[in-house]
Amino acid sequence: MTQMNPYYSELQGSYLFSEIAKRRTKFVQENPNAEIISLGIGDVTRGLPEAIVKAMHAAVDELAQPETFRGYGPEQGYDFLIQAIIENDYKARGIDIQSNEVFLSDGSKCDVGNIQEIFSQDSIVAVQDPVYPVYVDTNVMAGRSGKFNSETNRYENIEYLDCTAENNFKPSLPKRKVDIIYLCYPNNPTGMTLSKAELKKWVDYAKENNCIILYDSAYEAFITESDVPRSIYEIEGAKEVAIEFRSFSKTAGFTGVRCAYTVVPRELKGFDKDGKELLVNDLWNRRHTTKFNGVSYVTQRGAAAVYSPEGKEQIKALVDFYMTNARIIRDGLASIGIEVFGGVNAPYIWLKTPNGMDSWAFFDKLLSEANIVGTPGVGFGQSGQGYFRLTAFGTRENTEKAVERIRNMSL
Ligand code: PLP
Repeated sequence: MTQMNPYYSELQGSYLFSEIAKRRTKFVQENPNAEIISLGIGDVTRGLPEAIVKAMHAAVDELAQPETFRGYGPEQGYDFLIQAIIENDYKARGIDIQSNEVFLSDGSKCDVGNIQEIFSQDSIVAVQDPVYPVYVDTNVMAGRSGKFNSETNRYENIEYLDCTAENNFKPSLPKRKVDIIYLCYPNNPTGMTLSKAELKKWVDYAKENNCIILYDSAYEAFITESDVPRSIYEIEGAKEVAIEFRSFSKTAGFTGVRCAYTVVPRELKGFDKDGKELLVNDLWNRRHTTKFNGVSYVTQRGAAAVYSPEGKEQIKALVDFYMTNARIIRDGLASIGIEVFGGVNAPYIWLKTPNGMDSWAFFDKLLSEANIVGTPGVGFGQSGQGYFRLTAFGTRENTEKAVERIRNMSL
């Protein structure tokens, strides 16, 4: 037998969504007639917009002919898509990003999970709490987390930045020197955002303290308020300290199609074991080209159609649809006195569980009394205890029905 990576033994329990699935399956087995509505896992429910489908069909036809067939493409992505991203997501907002700074991939989960590989083993990592679990678990696997403390529900060597109603879900700066800071805005799970001035504080801090911000902006398309920054690069100097992650998953219904991108500016620097300066971009390029062979051509053509005039219109309609669901949930819950957060610039509604119930107790109550599956806040970290997440990605009918059922519960 071969010794396996010892750090995997530090991973805690089953992944949050497996536990949810387990409880749901058990409930359905015991209550086969219950009509379950899932507002739990963040998956979308509407079909792909027409402009994308058309572009993907055309790309398949190209692949069918030897004259237009394409095999392996550039690992970083085709230029037609990289240019569309640069023009629409950055240049149109006054941000200058070069084509060798954009890396296409098959999803932000892989990117935010893989990025830690290019940092030193002894880097100290800071995460928001509650947190998208991938940031933590991938650092546990890499051996950066230290031991798990079951009393605090936290890893000893990770710096947790609390985000609760008390600080309006805006974390304080780290209390000790850290090397890597994961920030997620609009936030999953809380649905909250930072203003430009608040984000600037983080950029300034990273500059002064020589750390790198990993800025996960998978939900950027859901921002509705004009003063909320859409990219960390709107903040002066951010290119020297930040990597940005974006995904087509929720924006364009690509959760099954798979496409995302990561921006690693050439200004961003680190140093090697001898203290010699190096470009983070070079390391990520090396990692990406060694371990990844490019997003499929058909997928990239579909993603490029997001930026066509029809694509833009259809994407907007899609996002508006989900954000109307968000409003229905927010208003419905608020009307019965539940404290709700998020849901204005993000497709997530973060609620305070009624009567101080713990997150899993509320999960079980919601499942058994209203037959609704949501996500317990504590699954995202200790600071999520007493909170609960609902998503706006359901169908309109299910969203309305779910809100009605919650309104009829005895809370
Ligand atoms: N980042 C955050 C904060 C997410 O919530 C998700 C998906 O739920 C992802 C990244 C992963 O997105 P993708 O589908 O591109 O892998």
